[in-house]
Amino acid sequence: MGIVVQKYGGTSVAGVERIKVVAERIAKSAAEGNDMVVVVSAMGKATDELVKLANEISTVPHAREMDMLLSAGERISMALLSMALNEMGHDAVSFTGSQAGIMTDASHTKARIVEVRAHRIEKALAAGRIVIVAGFQGVSSEKDITTLGRGGSDTTAVALAAALNAEVCEIYTDVTGVYTADPRIIPNARKLNEVTYEEMLEMAASGAGVLSLRSVEFARTHGVVIHCRSSFTDQTGTVIKEEVEQVEKALVTAVSQDTSEAMIRVDGVPDRPGVAARIFSDIAKERINVDMIVQNISHDGKTDLTFTMPKEDLIRSGDAIRRIVADIGAEGFSADSDIAKLSLIGAGMKTDPGVAAEMFSALAEAGINIEMISTSSIRISCVVRSMDINRAVTIIHEHFGLAGEPSMASVGQP
Ligand code: ASP
Ligand code: MG
Repeated sequence: MGIVVQKYGGTSVAGVERIKVVAERIAKSAAEGNDMVVVVSAMGKATDELVKLANEISTVPHAREMDMLLSAGERISMALLSMALNEMGHDAVSFTGSQAGIMTDASHTKARIVEVRAHRIEKALAAGRIVIVAGFQGVSSEKDITTLGRGGSDTTAVALAAALNAEVCEIYTDVTGVYTADPRIIPNARKLNEVTYEEMLEMAASGAGVLSLRSVEFARTHGVVIHCRSSFTDQTGTVIKEEVEQVEKALVTAVSQDTSEAMIRVDGVPDRPGVAARIFSDIAKERINVDMIVQNISHDGKTDLTFTMPKEDLIRSGDAIRRIVADIGAEGFSADSDIAKLSLIGAGMKTDPGVAAEMFSALAEAGINIEMISTSSIRISCVVRSMDINRAVTIIHEHFGLAGEPSMASVGQP
């Protein structure tokens, strides 16, 4: 048997009882002869609570200190899980990201893994120990603790699976896999047995919260097979890999929604070459992740530019946007947070030009207005009012025949 990397999300380790259940699961896998490397997230909503504390002190907390604070969440869960295993008579040892050799760049709160120096883990495995690693964190070349961005534990797990050449990377969460829509909103969403990296990337980028985008990118680059499943059942989940079985290849695969973005409209932008380049390179310098961009036809040498970006970056970057807008001589800008993005994803779309029209008609029939549209070869996204989003997802999911039997997806949910 080889190395198995498992990752347990916040709900899976939310309390002492849950941690004991997870310890049993790890012990079972170890008893089957696997070398176990287990990545944990912070317990329950621990990270949110730490963020809240920081925000009570500062609207824009110092990034290095934020990483010191947030990395503490995973330290608690890793130590408790290791204790639980030791209590059961197993030889377990916990490592922080730094001790586990997760080397990152120095961009605090959004660090990227540049290298994994897994010697210490390998040594522990060779000594027959179960290794528990704190997810979501690493260390920079300046020896400062960094974090990988929210949801970053998935990336830790995939990076370790790649570095250790693991058989599989099992990501345990509170749903039984990847669904045709968020089963917490669409009760008859269907579980997908297999999803390609390409589709999973589009889904993760469009708000499907089940796996973090970075982790899927990493898995694709390094060919790590992910098995996404629930820690509350023994059911198999969804396997994410390069190619899927023919039966799974439908025209469309899933619908997702994203309510985390705001829409920014810049008015009266001078319409000359280089203006868009200037705006978006300045915005990139502020480390704002712009998603959709739409520019209107110009009138009298001026145009409007609309784009979407994470709401959570808006407070931090309001001043920067104001300055950028003034620098290029635009008339002003407005921010609208009451929007949501609906996306339809499917590899089958590549060869079927009719999907977009069908999606727009279904929304029109329901009286839902589309404010922005963007597409890739396997995705169509529409910005709608946030109050319309759940209805829009339901309608599109139904319209494209994605529904299955009522799911047992949220078995872990209270
Ligand atoms: N605890 C971190 C978060 O809540 C990382 C993770 O859960 O993956 O974002
Ligand atoms: Mg998570």
